[in-house]
Order: sequence, then C-alpha cells, then structure tokens
Amino acid sequence: MAIAKLLSHLGLALRKGRPLVPASCGHRIVVADAQRRFVQIWLRTRGCRHDILNGGCTICNYWASTEPQADEMVAAMGAALDSLAFEPEMIVLSASGSFLDAWEIAPPARRRILALLRARCPKASVIIETHHNTVTPECIADCSEILGPRWTVEMGLESASRQVLRCCINKPLTPDGFLRTIEAIRMAPGLSSIANVALGAPFLSGEEIIADAVATVTWALGHGVDECVLFPMNLKPHTLTYWLHGQGLYRQPSLWVLADVLAALPAELLPRVNFAWHRVDRGQYSEWDEGIVAPMTCPNCYPRVMELLEQYLAGGSRGELAQALQRQQCPCRDQWNAAKHVDQPLGDRLLQGYERAAVTILGEDYWARHGAALREELQQLMEREGPPGLE
Ligand code: SF4
Ligand SMILES: [Zn+2]
Repeated sequence: MAIAKLLSHLGLALRKGRPLVPASCGHRIVVADAQRRFVQIWLRTRGCRHDILNGGCTICNYWASTEPQADEMVAAMGAALDSLAFEPEMIVLSASGSFLDAWEIAPPARRRILALLRARCPKASVIIETHHNTVTPECIADCSEILGPRWTVEMGLESASRQVLRCCINKPLTPDGFLRTIEAIRMAPGLSSIANVALGAPFLSGEEIIADAVATVTWALGHGVDECVLFPMNLKPHTLTYWLHGQGLYRQPSLWVLADVLAALPAELLPRVNFAWHRVDRGQYSEWDEGIVAPMTCPNCYPRVMELLEQYLAGGSRGELAQALQRQQCPCRDQWNAAKHVDQPLGDRLLQGYERAAVTILGEDYWARHGAALREELQQLMEREGPPGLE
C-alpha cells in the first residue's frame, strides 16, 4: 500500500491551491458539434470522490467545487439544454468525476436531471460518464426507467495492466472489477459500454505506451466492451504528470502516438475504436483550464494529421485511413520515433520519479520514513507482473 499512499499524498499536495469551479458556473457545454448533432454537457458537482479524498489519478484534474444543491443541479441542466443551438442526437453527460456516484449526485437529484433531459430530448442517445464501481444493477434499472433501456455507460479503464493502474496512474480499479461491471452491463438488454483508454501514462516509455494501449483495447473489446476511446495525454496543472513534466521526468507523447496505436490494432477492431482530446481547440477552455497542454505534432504536418484523424472519426474505411496515417512522414515524427525506446527499466524509472516527487513535494523526511517500503513493494510488483502490454 506504500505506493498508493505516496501517490495519494502527492495528489493531495499538488491539488492544494487549485481554484474551485465557482458556484455561478453550474454547467459547461464541453462539445457542441452541430454537424454530428453531438453535445457533451458537464455539470458542476463537488468533485470526484477519489480526487477529493485520495488525491485522484496522476493524470486527471476534473476540477472540484463546493457542493451544489439538487435544485441548482437541475437548474444547471435546464440552462445547458436552453443554450443548445440545435437538437442533439447524442448527449454525453459528465460531472466532475462520476455522474452515477451518489456521493457526487444524490439519486433523487440524478433522477430529476435525467427526467428533464429525457423530456426535452426524447429521442437523443444518452451516454453517462462514470467510474465503473458506481454502475450497479439497481442504478442501471433506475436510469433505464427514466431514459429507456438504450443508453450507454462510459467508464475510465485507462489500462488493463495492474502495474500501470497502480504504479503510474493510481486508479482505484482492477481489471477483474472492471470486468464484473461489464458483465452487469451486458445483463441489461439495450445498455452498452465504452471504455476510455489513456495514451501516455507517466513513467512509461513511448514503446510501452503504445504496447499498453494496444493490449488494453484488445483486452477490453475481447471481454465484452462495446467501444474503446483513446485519450492522448493532455497535461493538466495540479497533477503529478504535469509536475513530472516540469521536472523533465515525463515526456508528453506526440500526437503521432495515435497513428501508431491505430496502425497496430487489428483492422477489424477499428470500427469500435475512437479517440477524443486530440484537438488543441476542442472548445473546453475556461479560466480553471488555464495551462492545459494538448498533444501536438509540428505546425507543418498538423493540418494533414488532423484531417486524417477527423476522416477516421467520421467513419469511412478505417483500416485504410489508419494505414494512410501510418505512411505520413515528418521530421517531428522522426523525433518521436527516436525517443520511443528507453533503456532504463520501468522499475528504476518509477523509483527515481517517486523519490524526486516525495523529497521535493513531501519532504526528505517522508522518503526517509517510507522509501524502503516503497522500494520493496515496487520490486515485488515488477517481479510478479510482466511489462505493460505484455501480460
Ligand atoms: S480519472 Fe476518474 S477516478 Fe481518476 S481522478 Fe479523474 S475522475 Fe477521479
Ligand atoms: Zn511534423
């Protein structure tokens, strides 16, 4: 548990001084794509339970706020729907963590929000973003009663590797627990699932990032997940990943990583593989997003890479588009390729990063007290589990 404790202490320390989302901002329209009739609505909540209580995942800052009243959340949903310039066909509902966590949105408020949504958008497909452990049979039945049986649960899986989840991301999730949720979803006719996959966990080399993502997508789709969404890493202030980057201990993957992963996946899986957060200008900017660094290529190849990525998302022959992306060349891609391999073993990279972060952020005393236990836990974990992507 020494690793989980360290990452939690670091997360809590790095979140100190994080600006709260003001109560005046009850909602945001994260995406409004008139062409695809697609919107993502985010509602203000007090924050993700894991974030507030345990410092959260090393890659994530989904904001925090004071706790809104049920009436405020319902009014925010109404205001979000009022603000839409077109009738959406697909709506993603997000909170500052998990929409289905009663700690974040109490069930009576959740029911009122969903009822309002369904009354205003009777035909829209609804996707609810939530942590897998908030998806219970009771909760599914409750939502289906309001939304109808056909809706989708979107959950952060990030990686199917225990090593990556525990040592790199600090995600409170095990692959086995995730699979139990998938089973519960499959028991509900009409309900479908999306697993979000991280592309760029800290401490991993470029090669490991690609291998881990390919293994995770293959694992998830092979175990009953309906769709995977790849998230190339955006650097977010108040996260350990952002801090490591500032210390030269993390290298944000180039956007070319998406091309590498798509090309490495079997073509028959691609219709069920999408991606998000690949755009610099995805319309999420707000004052508390200040400082987010999106993944890039160089300005010379960015327009053609983006065009191919958007063509991929629009459908078409995805296998061919993935190969077309893979054939693209640019000096910035050569640089990314040249930096993908790292000789230093993952265990050493982790220990080095843990020590630097612990000493700098929590003090030398912390490392003196816990360094030996961390080293031992890490060593055991490295011996027990294979390298990410190869388990
Ligand atoms: S990734 Fe999910 S569980 Fe982790 S801190 Fe963010 S919202 Fe919470
Ligand atoms: Zn380039």
